[in-house]
Amino acid sequence: MTAERKMRINDVQVKFEEGETVLACARRAGVRIPTLCHFDGLSDIGACRLCLVEVEGSAQLAASCVTRAEPGMVIRCHTTRLAEYRKVILELLLAERNHVCSVCVANGNCELQDLATEHQIDHVRFDYQFPALGVDLSHGQFGVDHNRCILCTRCVRVCDEIEGAHTWDVAGRGGTSRVITDLAQPWGESQTCTSCGKCVELCPTGALFPRGTSVGGLVRDRGRIELAMAHRRHESCHG
Ligand code: SF4
Ligand code: SF4
Repeated sequence: MTAERKMRINDVQVKFEEGETVLACARRAGVRIPTLCHFDGLSDIGACRLCLVEVEGSAQLAASCVTRAEPGMVIRCHTTRLAEYRKVILELLLAERNHVCSVCVANGNCELQDLATEHQIDHVRFDYQFPALGVDLSHGQFGVDHNRCILCTRCVRVCDEIEGAHTWDVAGRGGTSRVITDLAQPWGESQTCTSCGKCVELCPTGALFPRGTSVGGLVRDRGRIELAMAHRRHESCHG
């Protein structure tokens, strides 16, 4: 006999479908879990770790975007321990590259900035790395500023899974990782980029931007991408 597909998330009883993630169940139940790498309609990779949750009976925290819901699971999403972990993750992201909001195109329209505010981060407890990273303005319409990149790989996934171009990838390891276009050529020389702009739209920070955008001038229109995703889902359901 199969166990009934029910679990508890923050004391709310939630039914789920086979294969659903804890994050998807939480969202359906109206429980908000912060994320930076997840975007509805893209595959999940558990990169940013902000969606960590506590699972009763397990000593380990679980990234809810890549954890399958199981019957009888008891999940806690908002504890003091999780709040502190999330704060540390955000501080590490802020210290790793050069997130100087006052001179960023995404100032006021940045998911990293929003989460830092939400978690009351008014200073960072780690040494800033201040890496000297480049800005590629070779593309006629868009630019990439590696100083603002948090390696969430939304650009990689949307370009591959929705646009089908697979222009972006990640090269290097650990602290030396970078997003690259094609075989690390300048973006403007890419043979695969269709200039659709989906990667720019989904970037959570100011790392990808339309050229000519001034400080704080980034405007997003995610509805356009959501439509493209719905179209792609429709295509895969109807052959
Ligand atoms: S503009 Fe479109 S095709 Fe070009 S890199 Fe971005 S998502 Fe890929
Ligand atoms: S460029 Fe933007 S979307 Fe791509 S990995 Fe970096 S932060 Fe994420």
